[in-house]
Formats: sequence, structure tokens, C-alpha cells
Amino acid sequence: MANNNENKKDGGFNFPPVGGGKNIKTPKLNGYWMYIILAAIIIGFQFFNMNPDPVRTTWQEVKTKMLEKGDIEKITVIENKGQAYVYMKPDKIENYSQLKSQGFKNSSPGPQFYFSPGPLETFSSEFSELQEKLPAAADIQIDYDKEYDGWGNLFSILFPIALFVFIWVFFFRRMSKGGGGPGGVFNVGKSQARLFDKDTNIKITFKDVAGLAEAKQEVEEIVSFLKSPDKYTKLGGKIPKGALLVGPPGTGKTLMAKAMAGEANVPFFSMSGSDFVEMFVGVGASRVRDLFKQAKEKAPCIIFIDEIDAIGRARGKNPNMGSNDERENTLNQLLTEMDGFETNSGVIILAATNRADILDSALLRAGRFDRQIYVDLPELKDREEIFKVHLKPLKLAGDVDIPFLAKQTPGFSGADIANVSNEAALIAARKDKNEVEKQDFLDAIDRIVGGLENRSKVIKVSEKKAIAYHEAGHATVSWLLEHAHPLLKVTIVPRGKALGAAWYLPQERQITTKDQLLDQMCSVLGGRAAEELTFGQISTGAQNDLERATKQAYAMVTIFGMSEKIGNLSYYDSTGQSDFSFTKPYSEKTAELIDSEVKTLVEDAYNRAKELLKTHQEQHHQVAELLLEREVIFSDDLERILGKRPWKDEEEAEESKPTTETETETETNP
Ligand code: ATP
Repeated sequence: MANNNENKKDGGFNFPPVGGGKNIKTPKLNGYWMYIILAAIIIGFQFFNMNPDPVRTTWQEVKTKMLEKGDIEKITVIENKGQAYVYMKPDKIENYSQLKSQGFKNSSPGPQFYFSPGPLETFSSEFSELQEKLPAAADIQIDYDKEYDGWGNLFSILFPIALFVFIWVFFFRRMSKGGGGPGGVFNVGKSQARLFDKDTNIKITFKDVAGLAEAKQEVEEIVSFLKSPDKYTKLGGKIPKGALLVGPPGTGKTLMAKAMAGEANVPFFSMSGSDFVEMFVGVGASRVRDLFKQAKEKAPCIIFIDEIDAIGRARGKNPNMGSNDERENTLNQLLTEMDGFETNSGVIILAATNRADILDSALLRAGRFDRQIYVDLPELKDREEIFKVHLKPLKLAGDVDIPFLAKQTPGFSGADIANVSNEAALIAARKDKNEVEKQDFLDAIDRIVGGLENRSKVIKVSEKKAIAYHEAGHATVSWLLEHAHPLLKVTIVPRGKALGAAWYLPQERQITTKDQLLDQMCSVLGGRAAEELTFGQISTGAQNDLERATKQAYAMVTIFGMSEKIGNLSYYDSTGQSDFSFTKPYSEKTAELIDSEVKTLVEDAYNRAKELLKTHQEQHHQVAELLLEREVIFSDDLERILGKRPWKDEEEAEESKPTTETETETETNP
């Protein structure tokens, strides 16, 4: 079943950060501004200090041209760099074309030239000789100096430090989930909860949550505990500390919590289990502490932890495995906090998960999550209600019948129904319709269950024939079996990964009998049986069928105790806390027996399917040929070829009772 609900994207909370609407943002002079100002100062300094660089020359040229003419004012020898700078007399600068082209003016401060003086002793004795010989050089002063490149040195020291600080801050921010808030790095241990209070405008109310009457009632009761605790405590009762919403994905747990936030007039902290998880040791526990501290300050209030299995998973028995220490510390802290505060302190914890089976039993015990609220897949009536909510914004044609749509969607979650409604509107828009029609909804359901229709797939004629006989095999066998699910339609139009499919509308069953399971297995194997009987050879097309039949047979033998040889034993561990994944709870001999029992079950079902097809060979071929001709056939066509089924559908038999459906299945031919 496809669960790709677009609406899930907005399933999460969009509450403002703690502090809600009161948090008026004021511009702050944070670290980034400091960097920008510093960079601006450096650039400005460089810009205004635009003295042209000195021009390179040689000692020979200095001697023969500049000294002789008396153009030099002074020479500074930089001892540690082996360089000498030449400062010219201002009025002589214009005599040198290379200085002019470098941008020197009469007023420009020196040095104008630099050269390499060679060994200093030789240079100074040579210069003294020159001063004696040349009268123009006599009064030139010569300085000896040392020079340090201040900026360069500072840069070489500061750069690694700056780099280190940058990397540190960067990683801390990333690790603390973007750490956008003020204080960044130092907020790692602070709770990431979002707060909703009366200042925050949440528009979702219990009216937006369709169906789920019991769950809604429980949640409403929690709100009333907080609003008027005296009503409950005056008789000596204690207010529950926590409630756990449990149910399959997309059934509206988060939606319910959102509605609660919208309706309860108390502060509502919301966070996801994964918000506690961090790679630093102790951060999870510190966040739990901080969350409860904040909550106690705002009591009475509600804390909502979505997907609590991220931290609440059962603690391992083997501490040497070590890898989950941090998660376990977080869980321990949560356990302590939940049992640590006074019962009537007015903080109620609401959590949601779809894996209650893997949660730690200490978390589930009374006194922590006192109540477990089951949010199950919606039943027929609930589906109608959910359709009503999601069809409200759509422009519907007169032929759209909500009870019919609810009947066509057994096993769909609220999220799937939201998706069907949206998908139908998109399909109608694609066809340029002004209203969404019934057929658009049917197409949307097909698309969600089976994937996108793929008519352009190139399929050889012989392959198409094989697919048609395979699907006709499923259809014929299931038509002839009492307990197989009622057939809706058979198609050989490729959809998603499947090349063809037989669509059923399964009935709601709270319990399934062995005969029902065997009949289902037989109809699942009908496709392969048809291939073998018709073409004398089998293909890979039945892989999905075989996988399902095998899994079902193993479940019958090892979980439901439906094998006579194994007896009434079940090796299933619903608590999820045993180590069965490493060791089997049965002996090698039993394992062999299980394998042989499974094989017998599947073989028997297969032979039964073959028998049925042999005795109804002509009808099977007619169904297949009709399928080849039309590509899609419906139950009416099968009734014409195979006759009316002698059994009453369970649904018809129980029409007066409200029905709840389980799962829509397709027998696909990948
Ligand atoms: P998960 O366990 O995967 O987080 P969930 O149970 O929290 O799933 P939600 O996020 O509450 O599921 O539901 C997803 C969407 O499905 C909702 O935004 C809503 O559009 C739709 N939906 C689910 N249940 C209902 C309902 N009872 N009434 C109306 N809409 C529903």
C-alpha cells in the first residue's frame, strides 16, 4: 500500500520558538558583524595607504646614475632582508621615467627604488670610497635598519586560530541542528521544544480530526484534567501523568496533538524524539532536564513528544554493545523526570509512536504513560468522516458519493485519504475539468494502490499473453473459492512495477480462519498455476506471488500454530525484546519440520489451484482472451463467464453491521 502522502510534509508542528509571539526580534551585534567590520577596516586601510611600490634597480645603476648626479637623499639598508631602499630628492623624481610610470609624484614619500646591496661589509666600504670620490655623494646619509612585516606576521599567527575557531563554531552549529538561536554553541544542551500558548495562532481544532471518536474523547479528557483538576482530585483521584498515542503511520496522531494544542488553553510544548538525539554525550539527558524545567515553570501545561521511539526504544541487555549508551542515558533521564515530579504538578506528557512494541517497558508502566490511546486505521464510517473533511475544499461533481469512496478504500489511513482527495483534484485539473468527478477519485485510488499507469511500456505480444493468462488465473481461482477476497477488477495495464494486477476489496475481519488463509494462498498461486497449465512453462512473473505465499505459510506454521505437526506453538515475540534475531527459539529438528510443513502447505494450495483451473479451463481461457481484448475487465464480466458465486459475500451477509475493512491487496506480476 502506498503511503506517500504529500500532506505528510506539513505533518510536523510549525510553532514559533519558545517564547511564542512575545519574542520580538531585535538586531544584535553578533560575531558576524564583528568580522565584517574588521574586514572593512583592513580593506579601508589598504585603500587609503596607496603609496606606489618602489621600483627594482641595481647597485650598478645607483652608483653610475643616481649617486653621480646627486639625485639621492638617503639610502636605508634593511639588514635582515638584504635590501636597500633609495629615497630620491623630491625635485629629481620627474627625471626618472620608470618612477613616473609607477605613479610616483614629486610629493610621494619614498622609497622610490630598491636594490640588493650584496654583502654588507663590501657595500659599506665601497660606498665610503664613492663618497670620498664623488662630491655629490658626500652628504648622503646611509641608515642600517631591520624591518618586520607586521601584518604578515600577525596574519600567520591569527589565521590558524581563526580557522580553528571557524571550524569549531561551524560544526557546533550544525550539530546543534543549525543552532540559529542566539548563543548557538552554548545552547546544545537546551531543549529544542517549540512552545504553543494562547498567543500563538494555531487554527487546527478537534473538528479537523475526523472519526477517532474514542481517541478524541480521551485527549479531550486530558485537556479537562488540566483545566479543572479539582473536579478529579476532590474525590482523591490522581491526574494521569502521561498518555501515549499509538497507531499505524498516517492515522492522525500528530494531527490530534495539533488539535489539542489548538484547543487547550494551556502552554503546549512540542518536540520530536529525534530532537533529543545528538552526538555529544549527555546532551540528550540535558535537553530532557531543560524541557521539564521549562514545563514546570509554565505548569499547568502539556508536553508532546512525537515519534518517541527514537529515544524510548527498549534498553539493551548487553551493556558491552555500548553504541546506544547516549540514547539510554536520555531515556533514563526521561524516566526519572516523568516519575520525579509531583503527580498533581500539572504537567501532562503526551507522546506518539507507531512502534509501541519496541518501547521500553519501564516507560509504559502505569505512573509514567498511564494511558495508551490506540489510533487505529479508520473504519468505514470514519473513512467517510475523513473524506468529508478533505473533500470540503474541492469542487465536486454531482456523481461523487462519499460512502462509495469510503467503501473503495479499505485499509487506507487518514493520510492516504487526504492524498486520494488531493490526487483526484490534480487528475481532474490535468484533464481541464471544472469539477472533480467520481472517476477521478477511482483513478486516484488506483494510482495510490498500484502506482502510476505506464501504458508506454513496451511489452511483447507473447509476454502480454502470458500476463493475461496469469492474471486470469488469479481471477478464476479466487472466483471459485469461498473465502477468497471478492474481486473488483483485473487489468493487464502496467502500473508502477507491476505488469498486471487482480484487484480485490477485502472484507473486514477481526479474526481469520485457517480455511480463509488457505483459500487466499490458493488464489495467490493461481497465476503461476495458470502459466504452467497453459504454456507448459513457468516464468519469473510470479515472484511476488510466491514471496507472499511463502511468508503467509511461515506465519501460519510459526506464528498462528496452524500446523498439526508443529502443534499449538507460536514463536512470535510481540514484545520485541527477545534475542530471537540471533538465536532461534526452536531446535534444528523443529526448523526442518517447519520448513517441510511450509512446503506442504504451499504445494497443497498450488495443486488445488491447478485442479480448479483444469476443471474450468475453458472459462479461464475465455477470461484471459477477454482481458487481452479489453485490458481491464470487471467482476460483472467474470460473473458472465463463470456464473454467479454461490456464496454470499461476508459484507452482504453482515450489511446491517458497521463494517471495518482491512487491506486492499493486489496480486501483482512484477
Ligand atoms: P506518523 O505516525 O507517520 O507520524 P501520524 O499518525 O502522526 O503519522 P498525521 O501526521 O497526524 O499522522 O497525519 C497526516 C495527515 O493525514 C494529516 O495532516 C491529515 O491531513 C491526514 N489525516 C490523518 N488522519 C486524519 C483524520 N482522522 N482526520 C482528518 N485528516 C486526517
